[in-house]
Amino acid sequence: MSNNTDNRFQAIISHAKEYGFVFPSSEIYDGLSAVYDYGPYGSELKKNIRDYWWKSMTQMHDNIVGIDAAIFMHPTTWKASGHVDNFSDPMIDNKDSKKRYRVDHLIEAKADVLKEKGEGDKADGLIAAMEKLLATEDYTGLKQLIEDEKIVCQVSGTANWTDIRQFNLMFATQLGSVAEDADTIYLRPETAQGIFVNFLNVQKTARMKIPFGIAQTGKAFRNEIVARQFIFRMREFEQMEMQFFVRPGTQMQWYNFWKEERLNWHLSLGIPTEKYRYHDHVKLAHYADAALDIEYEFPFGFKEVEGIHSRTDFDLKSHQEYSKKKQQYFDNDIDDTTGKPFGNYIPYVIETSIGLDRMFLLILSHAYEEETITKEDGTSDSRVVMKIPAKIAPVKLAILPLLKKDGLPEIARELLDSCKASFKCFYEEKDAIGKRYRRQDAIGTPFCVTIDHQTKEDGTVTIRHRDAMTQERIPLTAVKQLVLQAID
Ligand code: ATP
Repeated sequence: MSNNTDNRFQAIISHAKEYGFVFPSSEIYDGLSAVYDYGPYGSELKKNIRDYWWKSMTQMHDNIVGIDAAIFMHPTTWKASGHVDNFSDPMIDNKDSKKRYRVDHLIEAKADVLKEKGEGDKADGLIAAMEKLLATEDYTGLKQLIEDEKIVCQVSGTANWTDIRQFNLMFATQLGSVAEDADTIYLRPETAQGIFVNFLNVQKTARMKIPFGIAQTGKAFRNEIVARQFIFRMREFEQMEMQFFVRPGTQMQWYNFWKEERLNWHLSLGIPTEKYRYHDHVKLAHYADAALDIEYEFPFGFKEVEGIHSRTDFDLKSHQEYSKKKQQYFDNDIDDTTGKPFGNYIPYVIETSIGLDRMFLLILSHAYEEETITKEDGTSDSRVVMKIPAKIAPVKLAILPLLKKDGLPEIARELLDSCKASFKCFYEEKDAIGKRYRRQDAIGTPFCVTIDHQTKEDGTVTIRHRDAMTQERIPLTAVKQLVLQAID
């Protein structure tokens, strides 16, 4: 990371804490690594992103329904899904510093250094070589690559590496109060399996016909060995996943559909296209026949924010085998080639999986701006503004009576009462108006309305727009509609 981007990222992290978006978990005890808490404005923003996703999936698509499955699941679930045997990352330790690295992160960091030195081709070659070796799980070759590239530990500065080993990322715990009788269960590492085990329950009770989807949001847990970059990689995080069940043979058509649909969802928030790119996977997971990431240009480079995976019938087939319960769907649509119904089959699945916390970081990275403002008298001032899209902003409208007297607070409170059931408002009487505007800029409130003496005379108020800082006078009675229009 260059100094500039590093500074910007550090500024975002400080701002997130100072303005009540994100705090380190249990901070009074010095925090817990890679675990975070969301504060008053953070929890609002997070909820708004979750709601925006949920609505776009379950309300805007009449063939998608939601569920809310438990975090704890029968332990066989994770045997069937492959997580017990396969959910691991190749890691390498430096013998001198005892620091442990994820092999792909170590090599990617070297590629970043090469890019910064202007050796882009060399960096691309290195990543391609790594992906090839990862795909064939050639750990001897990967270690050789690390040695050939003279990659050293950031702490010890040496290249004294152990062999590469696999570490399972699932957290285990015990069910039941007596340890001896207890069964080992896992904190779910993804929400998807809660959808698969409920496939038939949902299909039958909601009377869904293929193609259809099941959406879910909820916590997931991964014992990430190397957790880094603030809320980008956490040990406890939230996913928003949708599994779309399709007829075998049509999966590529739906894969392409969701690839486009999901990128459009991101763009619908007003984030510029050039900040996004697709990254096709070379190494496919054991369950996939096609996979890509939607990447966003974070302050520390292009990184995955969402995955689109064609998961074949792997999960349902495996659950059928382990549970001995049929996971078939009867398709009575007519197959044109045979003239008969398609009949019984295990559906194929396209998955869209996005991290809510990572999306939150994306919004912070997009929104955060430090601006210099030239005032009318020629002097300059500065502000930090969070240009959060209005529809997901934590607070939509700040209601600010200019003075604490002369009946202005009464008018302001009346406006508050008429708006607060429809969207989140903030009321404040204290301090100079400029100071109050700055505080709203810092939490990303798109509109501030000021009630002054003229309001009493002609029923108009000043509405201030966050991004352009323009102000206009509009009727008090038009405020609610203006905000509703902006957030719809
Ligand atoms: P990565 O390669 O970054 O570890 P992944 O490919 O393992 O991610 P998936 O299993 O596809 O991720 O999970 C889907 C989404 O969940 C990711 O795109 C990401 O947004 C989010 N996610 C995964 N792991 C974490 C984590 N440790 N912290 C926060 N979000 C995560």
